[in-house]
Amino acid sequence: MLNLFRRKKPRRVLVIGLDCAPPAVLFKTGQEHPLGLKDQLPNLSHLIDEGIYGPLSSSIPCITVPAWTSMFTGKDPGVLGFYGFRNRADYSYDKMFIATANAIHEKRVWEILTEADKTSVVVGVPQTYPIKPLKGYLVSSFLTPSTDRQYTFPHELRYEIDRVLDGQPYDVDVPQFRTEDKDHLLKQIWEMTEKRFAVIKYLLREKPWDFFVFVEIGLDRIHHGMWKFWDPAHPKHEPGNPYQNAIPDYYRYLDREIGEILGMLDDDTAVLVVSDHGAKAMEGGFAINEWLRKEGLLVLKDDLPYEGLVPFEKVEVDWEKTTAWGAGGYYARIFLNVEGREPLGKIPARDYEKVRDQIKEMIEALPDHEGKPMGSVAFKPEEVYREVRNVPPDLMVYLGNLRWRSVGSFGLPDLYTFENDTGPDDANHDQDGVFVLWEPRKDHGGRYVEGLQLMDVASTVLDLMGLPIPPDMQGRVVPR
Ligand SMILES: [Zn+2]
Repeated sequence: MLNLFRRKKPRRVLVIGLDCAPPAVLFKTGQEHPLGLKDQLPNLSHLIDEGIYGPLSSSIPCITVPAWTSMFTGKDPGVLGFYGFRNRADYSYDKMFIATANAIHEKRVWEILTEADKTSVVVGVPQTYPIKPLKGYLVSSFLTPSTDRQYTFPHELRYEIDRVLDGQPYDVDVPQFRTEDKDHLLKQIWEMTEKRFAVIKYLLREKPWDFFVFVEIGLDRIHHGMWKFWDPAHPKHEPGNPYQNAIPDYYRYLDREIGEILGMLDDDTAVLVVSDHGAKAMEGGFAINEWLRKEGLLVLKDDLPYEGLVPFEKVEVDWEKTTAWGAGGYYARIFLNVEGREPLGKIPARDYEKVRDQIKEMIEALPDHEGKPMGSVAFKPEEVYREVRNVPPDLMVYLGNLRWRSVGSFGLPDLYTFENDTGPDDANHDQDGVFVLWEPRKDHGGRYVEGLQLMDVASTVLDLMGLPIPPDMQGRVVPR
């Protein structure tokens, strides 16, 4: 009998996903940090001050795909078997696969809840396209090719969204966030987010649910597109520029919407605020393949036509003479050309570890554009994952602790570049995102905790809802 009384009452849980939200912005006031907005975000502050909060360490790599899926499966990217959006499909040189929802073979929280006969509403969570059925309602995310395709579950939900938006199209993303037309970018981000919140509030009001999760991608887009206008630490920042308040204005708007949502909840709903990674000023880009070429590790068949940028896919690599090649992005991936593994492998299999260690050392010793230590770190997949499935990069590299991005293209005049080969982008991802847990009728007094990891979110949600944690989930329940 006693056990019955002690059993925690199953709760409903709302997860507010703010793609790319960094701890300093939400957790610090303007007095405490140049980017601190806590004193201007009353609703988020309320959750923090009564809740448990702290930095949430992302996956390695700290990229939207795989991060959100790692969060909601409680599995690391090695177990998931994808290491980014684009992945090597096999050990050939060019076959890639895109990690859509079809690439996910582990259960996410709402799939576990479906089996437990609980109802979920899922809006904007990455890797939910193509649509998979669940008990509940789903609106897919960025990476949905077009809303002309099925982007909701059930399919008919799209007609309700049409009505909510008065026939305006629902935006899964902004079409191009790496643009110089900042006014247009801002307009698109605001419109997209306003529409999303209209849909979220409609679903909160009209649908039954035990678990509700949404992710707003607009925050990631505004960070990448507008960061230099805001952050005084950005090398291109100009004080007093006309876009100085673009990002804080958007945060204040998100906070108002969150305030409205909190007002719609019953007294039995716990709230989590989480992000998949943080953001920081991007110093510049480092031409990873050009560097490998200069080091003699990557050999091309012809001299390059130095007429502008040439993407890696467009050059002819002399594979028989090539030891390693790389890929661009917010972090660098390095692939080794191994005998018996790659079609024209050069590194004898017995030398694999030796060569990998040499390249790791070389990368970690790289100087920055001023000759100072860059502070780069190269990770070996088997050292950071419980298991390594499919084809991981041989090394995953945070250049300058993520202050530098990786440029895969050739044809830059220098190894260091301050323009992005894929369009203007001022922010890089940072390892730490945010975690806030607020419980109704329980004041945690704004307890700050360290050491939280993305995968803890899945276990914590299930625990809040009174459900058992599957033993293969890698996260732990956040103590409360
Ligand atoms: Zn993200």
